[in-house]
Amino acid sequence: MRDTALLQLALGLIPPWTVSRSDFDPEARRLDIEIDFAPGSRFACPTCGLADCPAYDTERMSWRHLNFFQHQAYLNARVPRVRCDKCGIKTASVPWARPDSGFTRLFEALVMTMVSAMPVKAVARIVGEHDTRLWRVVHHYVDQARARTDASGVTRLAIDETAARRGHDYITLFVDIDQARVVFATEGKDAETVAAFADDLTAHGGDPDTITEVCIDMSPAFIKGTAENLPNAAITFDKFHAVKIINDAVDEVRRAEQKTQSLLRGTRYIWLRNPQTLSDRQRATLGGLPTHHLKTARAYQIRLAFQDLYDQPSVQAGASYLKTWYFWATHSRIEPVIDAARTVKRHWDGILRWFDSKIANGLIEGINSLVQAAKAKARGYRSTRNLKAIIYLLAGKLDLRLPA
Ligand SMILES: [Zn+2]
Repeated sequence: MRDTALLQLALGLIPPWTVSRSDFDPEARRLDIEIDFAPGSRFACPTCGLADCPAYDTERMSWRHLNFFQHQAYLNARVPRVRCDKCGIKTASVPWARPDSGFTRLFEALVMTMVSAMPVKAVARIVGEHDTRLWRVVHHYVDQARARTDASGVTRLAIDETAARRGHDYITLFVDIDQARVVFATEGKDAETVAAFADDLTAHGGDPDTITEVCIDMSPAFIKGTAENLPNAAITFDKFHAVKIINDAVDEVRRAEQKTQSLLRGTRYIWLRNPQTLSDRQRATLGGLPTHHLKTARAYQIRLAFQDLYDQPSVQAGASYLKTWYFWATHSRIEPVIDAARTVKRHWDGILRWFDSKIANGLIEGINSLVQAAKAKARGYRSTRNLKAIIYLLAGKLDLRLPA
């Protein structure tokens, strides 16, 4: 078998396309495969699909293909411009590459497979291409897959922001809780992000009216955005955020108190944890403290009691438990704890909503750490558009339909 026949078979070329020649340059570590079409061949119009259009003239083009062993390989061809009776003169499409791409479909599939596992910059280094060219490929496949995304079944949503770049840039993530996928990611962390989500949902076959449950932190922007754009959504305040508010109060009490109680120095992490997760050493330290006299210890007990809210058997039991807790906390005479209790009071219904919805932002926290890890590995992204593409790629459960 001649090498041209072998290459033609390996490339899966079908008439009118044939391999006419190959040039291997070991110095340049490069294989060039020439592809041509039989004279008199006719082509489909790339715009309207009309078959049997004659070639008008040709244009030389090249595409980077999968490596030939350790050598870079390129396909080269004269591509006909066809004369279509309806559309005029159009460049014909070739089966091995997308229009306007300098890579073959198989090379792009390789790139897409690699970028889901490592930073685009690292892939660029490995394949020996500039990363801006690879980002173009990434955006193409992500945009196409996003355009096909069906969001009609989304009813329960978790919303949270993630840091985008250094400074104060944020991206807000909208996660479909039931399918555990990011359905939308957008710049900012204000109420407008929810409006943008509602538009995007509508554009993908969904309906803002069918969103019935939303889990958020207590950010006024997300509360406002939800109320304005998702009229049928009940808000659940994420329980980890709720506990964190009390936890922050404990920390504030400890910081103030350790100025006069030097025994409290170095105990910060003890108060941030739960008793059952303390190390032996931390437990011993805690046991040695005069806890009866410490405001920090009282604040800590109030925080532990708040957590027990989530062990109550029903929303009724939860409501009555929270009432008792609130009375205790607001009568503690510990200012930061009283403030935290008032914050709880202002978000009462959304905190208790958990008993009905049982939704939390744990899932979105997981996605968040995935995104932040990718960001750290890539040492950041040049644009939020790039970061959003990576978020969809990692957590959007996209149907990329890569060429095989
Ligand atoms: Zn046409």
